[in-house]
Amino acid sequence: MAPHGDKSHAAEEAAVSQAENSPISTILIVIAMQTEALPVVNKFQLTEDPHSAFPSGVPWVRYHGIYKDLHINVVWPGKDLSLGVDSVGTISASLVTYASVQALKPDLIINAGTAGGFKAKGAGIGDVFLASDVAFHDRRIPIPVFDLYGVGLRQACSTPKLLKELNLKVGKLSTGDSLDMCPHDEASITANDATIKDMEGAAVAYVADIFKVPTIFVKAVTDIVDGEKPTAEEFLQNLAAVTAALEQSVTQAKIITWFSGTSLKQLTTMWF
Ligand code: SAH
Repeated sequence: MAPHGDKSHAAEEAAVSQAENSPISTILIVIAMQTEALPVVNKFQLTEDPHSAFPSGVPWVRYHGIYKDLHINVVWPGKDLSLGVDSVGTISASLVTYASVQALKPDLIINAGTAGGFKAKGAGIGDVFLASDVAFHDRRIPIPVFDLYGVGLRQACSTPKLLKELNLKVGKLSTGDSLDMCPHDEASITANDATIKDMEGAAVAYVADIFKVPTIFVKAVTDIVDGEKPTAEEFLQNLAAVTAALEQSVTQAKIITWFSGTSLKQLTTMWF
C-alpha cells in the first residue's frame, strides 16, 4: 500500500477509536408500524418534527426529543401514500434508515418491532428478543457468492451485559417481505437457524453496515409461526398487548437508560 494510504488508514483507525470512546449521544429507533411506535413516542415525550430533514412529500415521520442527555429519534416509514396502511417491509425500512442516517448521523440504531416466533426454538407470545444476528430468507440466488449476498447475514452489535441485565431472550432473526411463510422461506429460515421472523431487520442491518453504524434489534413476539393459529389472525389479536411489552423493554428506564453516558466501547466490551 502507498505510504499515504497507511497514513489515511491510521487516521481512520484513530477516528473509529475516538468514536468508540465518546459517549453515545444520538440514537435512531427505526420502527415499522405506528402502533409499535406511538407507545415509545409517548413514553419519551417525543414530538413530531414537522420540518423533518426528509425530502418533502415522503410519508416518513420523525419524532424526537432529549431523554437523559440522549438525542432520541423515532422514525417510522409512515402510511403508504395510496393505500393508507403502514409501510411495512424491507424497502421502506431501508429507505427510511438511509435517510435518517444521512440526516441524523446516529451513534447507534435500534430496530424495534414485532416478530413471529418459533416455539420449537423457545419463543413464546410476548417474549422480547435481542437478535444476535440477522439474515434474509427470501433472496435465493443459487450462484456461488451471490447466494451469500442474498442471505445477507449480519451481526447485531453485541451487548452481553445489556442482555443479561434486562433479562431478554437472544436468538437469530430472519427477514423477508411476507407475513406468511411458504415452504421455500421455511427452508431458508431453518438454514438461518432463526428463532424469530420479521419483515425489516436484515434490511435495516444492510444500510447500517454500509455506514458502519452499530445496530441492535429488539423484537417482541406477536405470533407463533409453528403454532396452530393463522399468523395474521394471531398477529392482530396480540399486537396491542405485545407492543406494550415492547415499549416497556425499549423505554421504562431499561434499554435507553443503559446507553446514557455509555460509550460504544463500554457497550460492546466492558460489560462482560
Ligand atoms: N396486518 C398488519 C400487517 C402487519 S405486517 C397490519 O394491521 O398492519 C407485520 C409486521 O409485524 C411487520 O412489520 C413485521 O416485521 C412484523 N411481524 C410480526 N409477525 C410477523 C411474522 N410472523 N412474520 C413476519 N413479520 C412479522
